[in-house]
Amino acid sequence: MHTITLIPGDGIGPEITKAVQAIFTAAQVPVQWEEQNAGQTTFDQSGELIPQALLDSLEKNRVALKGPITTPVGKGFRSINITLRQKYDLYQNVRPAKTTEGIASRYTGVNLVLFRENTEGLYSGLEVYDERLGISDSFNRITVEGSRKICRAAFAYAAKHGRKKVTLAHKANILKMAGTLMLNACKEAALEFPQIVFEDKIIDNMCMQLVNKPEQFDVVVTTNLFGDILSDLCAGLVGGLGVVAGANIGDDMAIFEAVHGSAPDIAGQGKANPTALLRSALMMLHHLGEHTHADRIEAALDATLKTPEKCTGDLGGKASTMEFAQAIIDKLA
Ligand code: NAD
Repeated sequence: MHTITLIPGDGIGPEITKAVQAIFTAAQVPVQWEEQNAGQTTFDQSGELIPQALLDSLEKNRVALKGPITTPVGKGFRSINITLRQKYDLYQNVRPAKTTEGIASRYTGVNLVLFRENTEGLYSGLEVYDERLGISDSFNRITVEGSRKICRAAFAYAAKHGRKKVTLAHKANILKMAGTLMLNACKEAALEFPQIVFEDKIIDNMCMQLVNKPEQFDVVVTTNLFGDILSDLCAGLVGGLGVVAGANIGDDMAIFEAVHGSAPDIAGQGKANPTALLRSALMMLHHLGEHTHADRIEAALDATLKTPEKCTGDLGGKASTMEFAQAIIDKLA
């Protein structure tokens, strides 16, 4: 039995979390949940944005499934997501994007995995504003060590999963120092994995190529900001934010969460697609070595996706979050 820290999060988080829990219970997956929360709602109740009990639970269990957490725009507290990623050095943000039968998309044959550096770059939290001069500076901190770790992780993943190519998306033509660090780190990692093809692309061209011919990409590695943007773009290639999974992985802790946010526009309406969080939970099962359970639930999900009327509105269906979950449970049998 694995004990997993469960963070339901904000907005649609509690709804999709409940759906995933119901599917896991029906599939008799050997996990037990330790529920903890963070963010504004938690602060209103307990006076703590990230309660010590949540940190204790993470440090004990080392594996978590997390719903999205709202971050106020332009003011208020710092992102809880970024705080946790930095505190526990969860330096890999792994986001697969794959076209799937039954999920409408403009493309076919997309099957790529994005490795986003998760702790540095423009998300380092190093920002100053000089009110007198009206100037703000945001520091794009990139380290040799951080670049080496994420590039090596992308190559190691490619080698382990029989993937053929790693593409680095960068801006080393303009960011001569920060961009070049990452480029050099990737060239170094490539030497260790001669069986994997290495190529690099400037980020603006990368966006055009992804939209024009996404099936050419296999494993993509990039910095924090570029990865954040590219992963939503990749979600758009394969059916939208409701279907793409993600994992924040460090050397001794992993937090699994969907790419999407708390979706305040549909929160509380039972409309949210649980697929993205479910797929993140399946990545978690593989991480725990529970491959048979993961494969069984994935087969039930894939079978359900072939009947769009049993899915949520974003996939062309009319089902609620829990009706969609129930349809997946029915396919488990
Ligand atoms: P969002 O991802 O929440 O929503 C973007 C659009 O996609 C919305 O129209 C939404 O309805 C739709 N969508 C997202 N998930 C869906 C799902 N499961 N099913 C169906 N439709 C879905 O992005 P946003 O509106 O820019 O951000 C809202 C909040 O989420 C912000 O506070 C942001 O900071 C936060 N956020 C958190 C995380 C995280 O916790 N990891 C990630 C991204 C954004």
